[in-house]
Amino acid sequence: MPGLWWLGVPGRQGSREVAVRFAVKPQEGEGERNLRRLFRRLYVPVAVLVVGLLVAGCGDRGASGNSGDGSLGGKLEVVATTTQIGDFARQVGGEKADVHQILKPNTDPHEYEPRPEDVEATAGAKVVFENGDNLDHWMGEVVEQSGGDPKVVALGAGVPVKLPGESSGPEASKYDPHWWHDTKNAEAAVLEIRDALIEADPKNKATYQKNAKTYLARLHRLDQSIKSCMEKVPQGERKLVTDHDAFSYFAQRYGVDVVGAVIPSQSTQGQPSAREVSDLVSLIKRENVKAVFPESSINPDLARQIARQTGASANYTLYGDTLGPKGSDGGTYLGMEAHNATAMVRGFTGGEQTCSILAG
Ligand SMILES: [Zn+2]
Repeated sequence: MPGLWWLGVPGRQGSREVAVRFAVKPQEGEGERNLRRLFRRLYVPVAVLVVGLLVAGCGDRGASGNSGDGSLGGKLEVVATTTQIGDFARQVGGEKADVHQILKPNTDPHEYEPRPEDVEATAGAKVVFENGDNLDHWMGEVVEQSGGDPKVVALGAGVPVKLPGESSGPEASKYDPHWWHDTKNAEAAVLEIRDALIEADPKNKATYQKNAKTYLARLHRLDQSIKSCMEKVPQGERKLVTDHDAFSYFAQRYGVDVVGAVIPSQSTQGQPSAREVSDLVSLIKRENVKAVFPESSINPDLARQIARQTGASANYTLYGDTLGPKGSDGGTYLGMEAHNATAMVRGFTGGEQTCSILAG
């Protein structure tokens, strides 16, 4: 937790650089969490004030290429919350859409606090794509504070495969929010993105249709490839222990048995009790689980510690809630799922089996 928070918006042509500085006394534990919640509430209103000052001060949005009417340099302005939705939107939007993706690679969506640039991008957007199912609940406030009037599409609401969420806790939800790990749901999201882009920008309908069709074919190939890889691992060996409970959709689709999770929750906002850790250790030993899979956006220390105690491997990291940086294995959705599947095949079999996946 840094002691200082900066709220900065880069100066535009003819306007002043505006930065607001908060001094925060470092806190620990619950206190820190409460402080972060307080700042989450303060953050966006202050950001709106800053953006408002900039707009009033320069009065020339055209200088930055942002016309304020939902087009940026002639492109349709779109906001996507998570990295995987950002990827879908870029695939379908292609050259015709400018996608502002709120979450950066390897950022935990469960704990995100919106930034001034998110509010600014949303103010000019015509379409906003959300994950839904309470994963990116913070986006509602960004839209409200932006003063814009985008069409907001919660993609999770329209997916065909739904699994139960958690009934209590900070992110209670009717459905498990990690729907993208089922490629059938990814396909539905891509179709919904296509239709929303066409509605917002009908003159480029043919491009959006073509891009979506190409990407859907790649998704289908990925799905088939993962399926045939996973089928080579005996059913009884497909035992999954991850950092948090993010892989139920993947597990259901490919016949994987979710044994447990280091953080026994669909949210990452919590830590397991000593009892829960010792129960998991016993379970891993009893079930002869060969790997505990850390996740790219979560501190791997506890997963490694549990692996050491049980003799399991912690060498195979999964992309759970976020894509990796551009150019990495998980830099795209197709790469993320291919990487996860190959890591699981290796982990499930103690490194004895490998499989190559056609990532599109
Ligand atoms: Zn998650």
